[in-house]
Amino acid sequence: MALWVEIIDTNSKLISNNYLPSNVIHKEVGDGRNVSFWHDIWCGSTSLASRYNRLYHLDINKFDMAANKWIDGNWHIFISQREDKWKCSLSSNGLFSVKTIREHLDRVMLPSLNVVTTWIKQIPRKVNVFWWRLRLDSLPLRWNLSTRGVELTNLECPVCNSGIERQNHLFFECEVANDSWRLIRVWMDIGMPRFASLVDLQAWLDGLQTNSDSIVRIKAIMITVLWVLWSFRNGVVFNDVVIRRSSIFDIVKMYSFRWLKNRGNIVSVKVQH
Ligand SMILES: [Zn+2]
Repeated sequence: MALWVEIIDTNSKLISNNYLPSNVIHKEVGDGRNVSFWHDIWCGSTSLASRYNRLYHLDINKFDMAANKWIDGNWHIFISQREDKWKCSLSSNGLFSVKTIREHLDRVMLPSLNVVTTWIKQIPRKVNVFWWRLRLDSLPLRWNLSTRGVELTNLECPVCNSGIERQNHLFFECEVANDSWRLIRVWMDIGMPRFASLVDLQAWLDGLQTNSDSIVRIKAIMITVLWVLWSFRNGVVFNDVVIRRSSIFDIVKMYSFRWLKNRGNIVSVKVQH
């Protein structure tokens, strides 16, 4: 027995130092009663546990012998029936929640916003946070969630049900966004072009040739448009409609006046309609 332990131990050392290929000692399967289905190397050059790691972790009988998995002429693996859960080390109960992640990101990231002078004091903090997330393309849009591994059955825009819900679709290409921007262009009357994307909008804002107060006001209104479109979209998704499609433009105007007025800047854009 001691001799075998020594041989196996030496073998492991040689394999881990790459002196020996890992399949140099393997089991030859007879009736499968002495072969660990997952841990022994009996099929191919590595253990099935390392080759099919995800399946291995799901199996509720990890230490079964091969014979136990072979039932009625087929391989059977019993997978845990427990509901899948996202785990998160940030929350007190260890479970994932969007709120926990958001609070963490706010805590970690927000102070730096002031440093890079992207904070716009005329608009509320939550809208600044939204603007920051939008520029990072990190809003929980369906496309963004799917690229981060969240399995969704439907990636379509919840507002128009045609087109994938990506950032540029929801805020610029979607019919509702398009209509809203058209009304804003007329209202502002400052030669605002049609934006196809956030990059377009930012490039236009960066190139504005006017005094800095006006630039801040224009920027605040642009962000308000995006914020109201986002609020409208969330109302549709969560079936909690507080903004009607027909009132989006009025709400943009209302917020713009309220925010800019309350924070010491009266809106001085020409109203035309
Ligand atoms: Zn849409």
